[in-house]
Amino acid sequence: MSDRLDQLDVEGKVVIVRSDLNVPTAKDETGRIVITDDGRIRASVPTIQSLLARGATVVVVAHLGRPRGEVVPDLSLSPVAARLSELLDAPVAFIPQVSGDEVDRAVRALIPGQVALLENVRFDARETSPQAEERGSLASEWARWGDAFVIDGFGVVHREQASVTDIAGLLPSAPGLLVARELASFQRVLIDPERPYAVVLGGAKVSDKLAVIGNLLERIDRLLVGGGMAFTFLRAEGYAVGASLLEEEMVPTIRELMDDARRRGVEIMLPVDVVIAREVSADTEVRVVDVGEIPDGWMGLDIGPETARRYTAALADARTVVWNGPMGVYEVAQFSAGTRAVADALARSSGFTIVGGGDSAAAIRSMGIEDSRFGHVSTGGGASLELLEGRTLPGIAAWLRVEAGSPAAGTPSPSTGDMT
Ligand code: ADP
Ligand code: MG
Repeated sequence: MSDRLDQLDVEGKVVIVRSDLNVPTAKDETGRIVITDDGRIRASVPTIQSLLARGATVVVVAHLGRPRGEVVPDLSLSPVAARLSELLDAPVAFIPQVSGDEVDRAVRALIPGQVALLENVRFDARETSPQAEERGSLASEWARWGDAFVIDGFGVVHREQASVTDIAGLLPSAPGLLVARELASFQRVLIDPERPYAVVLGGAKVSDKLAVIGNLLERIDRLLVGGGMAFTFLRAEGYAVGASLLEEEMVPTIRELMDDARRRGVEIMLPVDVVIAREVSADTEVRVVDVGEIPDGWMGLDIGPETARRYTAALADARTVVWNGPMGVYEVAQFSAGTRAVADALARSSGFTIVGGGDSAAAIRSMGIEDSRFGHVSTGGGASLELLEGRTLPGIAAWLRVEAGSPAAGTPSPSTGDMT
């Protein structure tokens, strides 16, 4: 095991790269699958290119969607191979199986220095099996022809899966450039961050992000809450929230959390006004009301303009900002202004900013804001949340210990070569 890609012996070798190519897709008028956001494919290119430059033959392993161990033609990686080829400006051989004799033959037929992509690894149920032997049997099929392994799919490093952890136990392995960059960015906000430190949380459910709040509360100065989860906070403060998203059973937990924040001197900011409607649609009637005035049958679908102004002001002097989760139903134009305001505030910030979460990253791209305006745009939703929760991720545990707050955090740990 190596903790660095440049220490891995790759020249003249077949290197298996686990990338995260799980991109959003849609069907066009002709029924053809098109990629609607190629951000993750782009993010996978540097590692592949650097391996090619060092004389490796690269076989990419990746998944798309949730086929649950079955072959689902709409979830084929074939369109992704075409896009990857365009971005690499090199041919990518698409191998329409996950493992087995055909794959063995196809890999052996590759010209040295070529790139190949295997079919959706989750077409094989062994990939995500809870049984280590099943995962191991799939991984050992790849190890028949693979000489080395690189984990570059940050979106899957929190998973114990054949193409993430099991294969790493069989071959000399190292983290790819993307995973290394993701880890370095999260370490920067977990270990000795510059202050003031603000966290903006939104998205649908508070229960998804409770552990993150718990872990970050001791590190941050301000927590700005938006999105659907804000209504559980507002409920905890005694407001009626109409038909807004509400996790009633979480209210006591949120009350405790807000008390805890007060004791620690962390400022929690909640919406003071909201954009409401009776349904989520592009042409429905919308109103802006103060949070105390949401009528029955109406739901809050975005933070209001006064809240957006306050949040922008609260982010202006922050030296560290972590943002996860849109402020409203940004997919619909009339509920996207709050998300845009937060995105703009981060883009303007001179502090170190991280955008985490699949929807948040999609939101900034749909708004046409360049990734380069942020300190880091994470490619992993779940993985970034688990890092912010302070957990050690199985896919990187062998190389790095990202245990928030521990003195050893961020320094490569002596590797045992044991992935179990
Ligand atoms: P991320 O992927 O960035 O972590 P989430 O998946 O937690 O974010 O949440 C994104 C979803 O939350 C979006 O589909 C968005 O429409 C929805 N959402 C945001 N605000 C609201 C709201 N007020 N009511 C209902 N849904 C909301
Ligand atoms: Mg999401």
